Amino acid sequence: MVKAIVGANWGDEGKGKITDMLAEQSDIIVRFQGGSNAGHTIINDYGKFALHLLPSGVFYNHTTCIIGNGVALNIPYLQKEIDDIVSKGVPKPHILVSDRAQILMPYHIDFDAYEEERLGGKAFGSTKSGIAPFYSDKYAKIGFQVSELFDEDTLTEKVARVTEQKNIMLEHMYHKPLINPEELLSTLHEYRDIVEPYVCDTSLYISNALKEGKTVLLEGQLGTLKDPDFGIYPMVTSSSTLAAYGAIGAGIPPYEIKDIITVVKAYSSAVGAGEFVSEIFGDEADELRRRGGDGGEFGATTGRPRRMGWFDAVASRYGVRMQGATEVALTVLDVLGYLDEIPVCVGYEIDGTVTKDFPVTAKLKKAKPVYEILPGWKEEIRGITKYEDLPENCRNYIEFIEKELGVPITMVSNGPGRHEIIHR
Ligand code: GDP
Repeated sequence: MVKAIVGANWGDEGKGKITDMLAEQSDIIVRFQGGSNAGHTIINDYGKFALHLLPSGVFYNHTTCIIGNGVALNIPYLQKEIDDIVSKGVPKPHILVSDRAQILMPYHIDFDAYEEERLGGKAFGSTKSGIAPFYSDKYAKIGFQVSELFDEDTLTEKVARVTEQKNIMLEHMYHKPLINPEELLSTLHEYRDIVEPYVCDTSLYISNALKEGKTVLLEGQLGTLKDPDFGIYPMVTSSSTLAAYGAIGAGIPPYEIKDIITVVKAYSSAVGAGEFVSEIFGDEADELRRRGGDGGEFGATTGRPRRMGWFDAVASRYGVRMQGATEVALTVLDVLGYLDEIPVCVGYEIDGTVTKDFPVTAKLKKAKPVYEILPGWKEEIRGITKYEDLPENCRNYIEFIEKELGVPITMVSNGPGRHEIIHR
């Protein structure tokens, strides 16, 4: 049985917490896209962790955590993250890395920074983790697959060939130091030694596990609105954030994904540039940012203050539809307890017409939010464990959102901790 946990919005919906929670009853947790460019924050018995590359299942002894073929694998980062959690007392996790995953090269990080520098004010707000150059190279067929680390002749030939091409760009376009092929080769030898103990045909491993009736979780990074096809292009990430891509990025048949738990945030937040119709500013935004998440809405990877906004029913309904949500986990609801009234964006006004359907980016730029105001509940809801015990206005808010989404909200998260969850 395969379940996917994915985001409906701009990311930072709290997928890490939900994965960590569901990992307790799972055997295998797989990262299937992205790299170390976004982070999950997890709070559990070992402490507070910001994971970027490792799946959120690494805190349990009984789980196998897989870096799937769809991931941008930053090998030194993987090592650092494993060392980091082990140094904080977490038992060494059982990790497997797909032999078909591609390697995030040191020059991908450099190119990312150089390109942002070249674009100046028109930059994409990249996290400079090398993700866009990585996926460009993968699809341009000049990426390095993990398996190639173990084939010295191919590796040597490819390093020479790729270096030649990269150096033309470095010299003539960016005017930056060139790559030395011998140094690059020796870096790749180091990478090979680090990754060797984890390398595996993970697609086959998962296939066999499924035959034995094991439970597999696919853990998505970011959310629908950052998907390169269905998001706010071009202010998107470079790999698909959709559950459908989980089949490819983990190497499993699409029909195996039975449950798509889509995480929706009770208000909106976004990092980086891009369209965000229900965005709020000034004191109103500052207060929500300060009270939001766990200790404020600041990026887990970059520390950047997140942009804040009210719940956007148009974007979220589209978000859950494109994920193919079978159920929704509504998170960070506790944060809204300070408000007298809560605006919810229920439509976009574009050129004088109100729509409830999420449009393409060019139209999105013109969209103005249409709000419906719901009464707040003015109460602390952390600690509540039964749905019926939530204040009436709080239940009304949840039920209003559920109706807008058209998908059952089966879980309501009312605190950052592993067990702070209300099942419906
Ligand atoms: P992810 O990338 O989707 O996993 O999201 P992040 O980890 O970046 O952001 C979610 C933040 O909200 C983290 O700091 C979590 O600890 C926190 N969080 C998750 N669920 C809840 C919740 O229900 N209430 C509160 N107050 N914080 C939450």
